Amino acid sequence: MSDCIFCAMQQGKIPFVEVFSSDNLFAFLDIGPLNHGHVLIVPKKHYANMFDMPSELGCELLSTMQLLGKAIIEATGAGGLNVVQNNFSPAGQAVFHVHWHLIPRFEGDGLLKWTPGKYDHNEQMLKLAAEISRAMK
Ligand code: 5GP
Ligand code: ZN
Repeated sequence: MSDCIFCAMQQGKIPFVEVFSSDNLFAFLDIGPLNHGHVLIVPKKHYANMFDMPSELGCELLSTMQLLGKAIIEATGAGGLNVVQNNFSPAGQAVFHVHWHLIPRFEGDGLLKWTPGKYDHNEQMLKLAAEISRAMK
């Protein structure tokens, strides 16, 4: 993709700080880290979002995230790690080349807090669950 920043990185047009590379994936430090050690893991081929990516890549992606996640924890001394992945603008996606955020977390760092909502009644939950199940078929 000609106007994609992550494709441009792979083509050597934009500098970045790499932490991992394989035939299918690469990972680098996010330029705007939520905490130091915030890494993005990215398929080398351009897929706009998770729904466009072939599921066959999922196994390698998960095993690499496990390895990378443990390494980030060890290197940063973090007590925890968030994996975050945004699809489409309303969900916060800003770069439209699929990627996963691996974010080291420290007790009391106050990041990624959200206020839980609630359902009005059980019927509402049952109806919604049925609609989601139906949409999967
Ligand atoms: P999104 O909101 O799409 O899930 O996340 C995009 C991420 O890409 C952001 O966290 C942002 O800091 C990171 N990012 C955007 N441009 C660059 C860049 O040029 N270099 C690096 N290393 N990260 C970038
Ligand atoms: Zn791309």
